[in-house]
Amino acid sequence: MSAPVRKIIIAIDGHSSCGKSTFAKAIAAKLDYIYIDSGAMYRAVTLACMENSLIRDGHLDEKRLPEILMNIEICFQKKPSPQITETWLNGVNVEERIRSVDVASNVSLVSKSRIVRKKLVSMQREMGRDKGIVMDGRDIGTVVFPHADIKIFMTADPEIRAGRRYRELRDKGMDVDFNDILENISERDRLDENRSESPLKKAPDALLLDNSYMTPEQQLEWFSNILLKTDLMKCRK
Ligand code: C5P
Repeated sequence: MSAPVRKIIIAIDGHSSCGKSTFAKAIAAKLDYIYIDSGAMYRAVTLACMENSLIRDGHLDEKRLPEILMNIEICFQKKPSPQITETWLNGVNVEERIRSVDVASNVSLVSKSRIVRKKLVSMQREMGRDKGIVMDGRDIGTVVFPHADIKIFMTADPEIRAGRRYRELRDKGMDVDFNDILENISERDRLDENRSESPLKKAPDALLLDNSYMTPEQQLEWFSNILLKTDLMKCRK
């Protein structure tokens, strides 16, 4: 896949567990772009809130949030072999902990907070200042980068998504239940789509990618064809 003549921003949004990060990472690797998993940032803030006892009985203590957010530092570190990106929170590697079921069940509560979103959106815009970036999430094409050069909205059948996640977690040796996963995915979709702050929705100019019956290779081929059809490939000498 050839890279566009100038560095661009690629925004990928979509439902939970539909392979956004696999797809975004693969594109970033092909184009030699930076990949940012904005969901990991919401998960890291959620973990910080949990560790500081800001979440009790399904309620978030909004009064203490500014103090947590003011001192928060989130960064990503790329590991060469195997090629993975790990999330660090205030100098600590939290990659494993932010993927836990506890964090997954509290992240919607934290991500609907206006001040959390304000803080993370500003960090994300800063990360995209020099372009050459692929970012995935829920509001990247609608709020973070409304002028992104390419916007993609991904989805897949909920049962297929739950099946993929189930196999992924089982392969990691975790004892998980398919129905619990399906429930968590469906609930997160419902909360993401219905919140008042930056709800998950397809930007009018986003391209729809339903990957229910597509392999990762087919998805990359789809993207490569999209890229070739844009003006972004012109003027290359
Ligand atoms: O992408 P991932 O499933 O890891 O995201 C975790 C959660 O973070 C989502 O369910 C959503 O509530 C929140 N999120 C968000 N906006 C983003 C990315 C993630 O609200 N841009």
